[in-house]
Amino acid sequence: MNTRRRFLTRLVATAGMPALLCSRAFAQTPPPPVKLEESDPVATVLGYKKDTTKVDAAKYPLHKPEQRCDNCALYQGKPGEASGPCIPFGGKLVTATGWCSVYAKKPESVKP
Ligand code: SF4
Repeated sequence: MNTRRRFLTRLVATAGMPALLCSRAFAQTPPPPVKLEESDPVATVLGYKKDTTKVDAAKYPLHKPEQRCDNCALYQGKPGEASGPCIPFGGKLVTATGWCSVYAKKPESVKP
């Protein structure tokens, strides 16, 4: 095989690689969301509870029972769903009835 033919063969072979890699990347489905457990080290530090009524009032005196993940500005779940992704926990699923110490009330205009 002469040098020119070898060069063209390699060029064609390598030119298709990015397309092949891209198609494989898009073909993969994202991993299923992970549920946040209260035992998670970050959840422990932030005082996450799956049930806002179970929050330790002595430890978190500013907590109010009406503060729930589904009315927190950092909650990304859809209305009516039992759980949804939470930004501070890297998109892990928190319960709609949960709470943690970085709770921030969702602005009225954002509520569904
Ligand atoms: S940041 Fe908001 S949505 Fe996330 S766990 Fe804390 S209270 Fe729930």
